[in-house]
Amino acid sequence: MSTHFDNTLQFAQQLDTADQLYSFKQQFHFPQYNGKDVIYFCGNSLGLQAKNIQAAVQQELDDWKNLAILGFGKAKNPWLYYQEYLKKSLSRIVGAKENEVTVMNTLTVNLHLLLLSFYKPTKERFKIMMEAGAFPSDQYAIETLAKHFGLNPDDVIIEIAPREGEKILRTEDILSSIQQHTESIAVVMFGGMNYYTGQLFNMQKITEAAHHVGAVCGFDLAHVAGNIPIQLHDWNVDFACWCNYKYLNGGPGAVGGLYVHEKYSSDIDTPRLGGWWGNEESIRFKMEKGFIPKANASGWNISTAQVMNTVALKAALEIFDAAGIENLRKKSIQLTNYLEFLLNQLTHIDFEIITPSNPEERGAQLSLYFKQKGKEIHDKMIENGIIIDYREPGVIRVAPAPLYCSFEDVYRFYNLLNSNF
Ligand SMILES: *Cc1c(COP(=O)(O)O)cnc(C)c1O
Repeated sequence: MSTHFDNTLQFAQQLDTADQLYSFKQQFHFPQYNGKDVIYFCGNSLGLQAKNIQAAVQQELDDWKNLAILGFGKAKNPWLYYQEYLKKSLSRIVGAKENEVTVMNTLTVNLHLLLLSFYKPTKERFKIMMEAGAFPSDQYAIETLAKHFGLNPDDVIIEIAPREGEKILRTEDILSSIQQHTESIAVVMFGGMNYYTGQLFNMQKITEAAHHVGAVCGFDLAHVAGNIPIQLHDWNVDFACWCNYKYLNGGPGAVGGLYVHEKYSSDIDTPRLGGWWGNEESIRFKMEKGFIPKANASGWNISTAQVMNTVALKAALEIFDAAGIENLRKKSIQLTNYLEFLLNQLTHIDFEIITPSNPEERGAQLSLYFKQKGKEIHDKMIENGIIIDYREPGVIRVAPAPLYCSFEDVYRFYNLLNSNF
């Protein structure tokens, strides 16, 4: 790993030459701008389309056309078991056992379903702790969950905010807040990474602290899955969910991922909302009364496997597996470190990197706060075929996904910033 970096195009190209994952870029479609591939730094919002997806989708269309209902058993990939095909890859990516993961619905829906399994408010223990400034959908989910139980969200939700004048949370503050509410916390629910600041939380320590006070602990891994290797099972995380369309390239609105620790997923008495696809397979089609869940995470499945919403992810994961999450992380650290190094050369521009500088507290993304000109800089980048996003007030998020972004891409972003502002 380079400890010395240079701010020259030639140096960036040398890093690309040495990068063993460089050729994976060719397995993706890039939007075109002025006849050229764009530079794409929004893989944290919607990953690119892998080239193998089209044939995979066509296969399902053909099987549907030619087999119709018989496709459930006779398609090339029998639809009856479609969710099973993803478990191996996804369990590796989130550090779980295969029987602890499934795919179904979408992220926010899964968050609701998991909270209905794990949030059991009592008179004494009814609080939910989360990070202040969590992704809006997560905030709405918790707020409406509280109301669903007839509780006042203001009484239920404890938000942990950064200290005065700081932009990111200190782990010690999260842990001590959990300690302070020993008797009353029911659930600790964090984004594994904050979507806005790019801060990666210490999920292992947060889980330990939550368990220590008798609470359960879950994470929304939208910005973690496929970005940073994690160990949900070994860390004893109780539940988690994520979307598969960000770093995992499953396509817009792709089927969501769900994890339930074995100690709950193997117990068919763990409460849940059920449907026939979660029922014990051998008796599902007997169509009898009495729900008997599968004794694994698939016991949370509710509806028929969403084949058309899962096929792109299935194909994308083949590429992801070929690259390997550990290799991707290694490259990602170097790529984002290089981006940070280049940005730190721009002393004539008034901005701040709000993402932690410690690589262990972040993933691919850096969030840049521009006191002025944030929107102008964003627009200039788009005009030059560099896709980044902008969030009020003045934050540009730049996420070089290691599967299809290069050191030269990062250099070109820096160079445009350097020469125009
Ligand atoms: C992207 C994202 C979502 C989106 O949820 P959907 O239900 O897939 O629309 C939710 N939470 C977080 C933290 C996210 O980053």
